[in-house]
Amino acid sequence: MEVDVYTCDAVDLPRGGTFSPTTCSLILGENEAVLVDTQYRAADVDEVIQRIDTSGRTLTTIFVTHGHFDHYFGLEMLLERYPAARAVATPAVAAHIARNIVAERASAARFFEGQALDNTVVPEPLAGGALWVDESELRVIDLEQADIAPTSIVHIPSIDTVIAGDAIYNGVNPFLAASGPDDWPKWVASVGRIAGLEPTTVIAGHKSPARSDGAECIEETRHYLASFIDLFETCSDSRELVSRMTDLYPDHVNPSALVMSAVTAFKQKTRPEG
Ligand SMILES: [Zn+2]
Repeated sequence: MEVDVYTCDAVDLPRGGTFSPTTCSLILGENEAVLVDTQYRAADVDEVIQRIDTSGRTLTTIFVTHGHFDHYFGLEMLLERYPAARAVATPAVAAHIARNIVAERASAARFFEGQALDNTVVPEPLAGGALWVDESELRVIDLEQADIAPTSIVHIPSIDTVIAGDAIYNGVNPFLAASGPDDWPKWVASVGRIAGLEPTTVIAGHKSPARSDGAECIEETRHYLASFIDLFETCSDSRELVSRMTDLYPDHVNPSALVMSAVTAFKQKTRPEG
């Protein structure tokens, strides 16, 4: 079994800022293939379709790690091309997507102004917590927290690989703007849970094109989150937090994600209690 990782380019947003380079993973068995996450722009989904066709495998399943458009808005286009494939997510993620798809379609349309696909397909809940490629089992694990909750990962024990969704970032500033100070320690714990699986290959949901998929991105993500949590306590405003984090991670891709995370965090800090 092998995994073919496709990473799209960073995207300049029409309203300012950039969107992080995003991965999807094609798991290839001898005869079958499973795709984890989908890309969200037509040209990137086309590239994924090319890779599936070139592989000669039968795409049986598309698994979605969590309910952000950048991980599932390629579903409709993919299912048009592969109508026999099933789109699935963990029951918690499938329910979250069903609840939020209208809002997610609106925000993708607003931020990308036509550069992102629209999508009306909601994945089915996956029963039993396992996916299969030929006779090999892929373990699906719900995590307590990543950039959002609910969220999940795929663990492939036979090749010591974790497809980590947005629990792990690789050379890219994580998105902490959809969570808050109470959530971040749970995210750190979820990163620890991935470390406990002792993978040698870790495919992050967002990855710098310069990076490989080595397991060092686990510790790097844990350190980044811990630094953000500590500095959020001691910095006086979002500007200082961005500056201190940039000193620590000068080469991380997509500084606009850090700015959004810091600004959103300080809005929560200054909100009156209760
Ligand atoms: Zn994402």
